Amino acid sequence: MSDKIRPIRGVNDIYADAAPYWDRLEQAVQQLFAAYGYTEIRLPVIERTELFKRSIGEGTDVVQKEMFTFETRGGTSVTLRPEATASCVRAAITNGWLHNQRQRMWYRGPMFRYERPQKGRYRQFHQVGAEAFGFPGPDVDAELIFMSARLWQALGLDDLTLRLNSLGTPASRVIYREQLTTYFREHADALDDDSRQRLELNPLRILDSKNPQMQELIAAAPVITDHLDDESEQHFGRLCELLNDRGIAFELDSRLVRGLDYYTRTVFEWETDALGAQAAVCSGGRYDGLVEQLGGRSTPGIGWALGVERLVELLQISDQPVPTSAPHLYLVMVGAEAERTGLALAETLRDRYPQLRLASHCGGGSFKSQLKAADRSGAQAALILGEAEVAAGTVALKPLRSDDQQQSLAAAELAERVGSFLT
Ligand code: ATP
Ligand code: MG
Repeated sequence: MSDKIRPIRGVNDIYADAAPYWDRLEQAVQQLFAAYGYTEIRLPVIERTELFKRSIGEGTDVVQKEMFTFETRGGTSVTLRPEATASCVRAAITNGWLHNQRQRMWYRGPMFRYERPQKGRYRQFHQVGAEAFGFPGPDVDAELIFMSARLWQALGLDDLTLRLNSLGTPASRVIYREQLTTYFREHADALDDDSRQRLELNPLRILDSKNPQMQELIAAAPVITDHLDDESEQHFGRLCELLNDRGIAFELDSRLVRGLDYYTRTVFEWETDALGAQAAVCSGGRYDGLVEQLGGRSTPGIGWALGVERLVELLQISDQPVPTSAPHLYLVMVGAEAERTGLALAETLRDRYPQLRLASHCGGGSFKSQLKAADRSGAQAALILGEAEVAAGTVALKPLRSDDQQQSLAAAELAERVGSFLT
């Protein structure tokens, strides 16, 4: 036997146990976006490296250390997308979707970041995200936050905290940036290596440090909300009002700056206590300069992205009923004639009940071994066809999850009974 091929570190297969939770999340998400008039966009997973450098920012961890970048045979530098906002903007510009138009779009799919893999942090992970283009006011900020709150409700997750901040405009940030630089320079001995680097590239990023030793220094730093321009302040005030109207609780956090450079004004993050260090489950913000920065006509934008793996994890540890993809029924067929009758019967049942999950036993074997497989499949009941049933034109229905008696049913009776397994 040759050596086993090993998977890539931080890249997972999603199957059996986890898959139903993914389905559940995706169904809720589709319903959510339909309810708010967002259209799905299916984006490429690969883009020019330049796209991410110019949008996420050269001074960010994502661009500096986390991208999967390589050259094509033709010599173009390309990158597996670490996030999809930049791609949405690129797509909108490429296809001219922003000319005198507003767009509300959503996406789902894998993202790639070369991080240190650990629970809740992978190298291939998945996001669902929403973006709205062409809406300058705080009404759409509120809409996007309402949507996320509605999703948690639909999923039965009631323990998430919303943190909210405003970053103002790039112009209003200039003075703050200087103050912050002065402050951290004065405390240069207390900075870790990462922060020292960030001080030169982008001092705001120091506020995003996860190093516990840095937290005291960060807590005493000047705050951005003291430096907002009037319009940003009004925008933020209005958003808070709209959230209050709707009864959505939030914490103001003037240290929330987010890990990507393109944000302006509103930024927010939904967090959980239940997943240890990987607390953020959904984050987003406004990026009014990004479209122009990537060569489009100046257009405001705002969006959020949620981490599917982290939400699935929350669903798995919540005490909600476990969603199942187990078959309703498992068809046992013993002997060549039974197999022939059985396969035809299975097709008839699937024709009649498109929702029916029916697993046919393939590969033959003894009655006993087939019944064992039926039990293992998680099915509610086994349909049994042996020589005797074929001769009599009947099928035996054997409940697998209760002590109810096995019954012998004629084909027409059986077709009726199957409906009762679907509710
Ligand atoms: P973190 O602070 O945990 O690194 P982030 O700020 O880098 O998160 P975003 O870029 O805002 O995350 O991505 C949105 C969401 O995607 C996060 O809130 C998180 O739930 C999820 N996410 C980000 N990186 C990963 C990863 N490597 N593995 C799994 N989920 C991730
Ligand atoms: Mg990160």
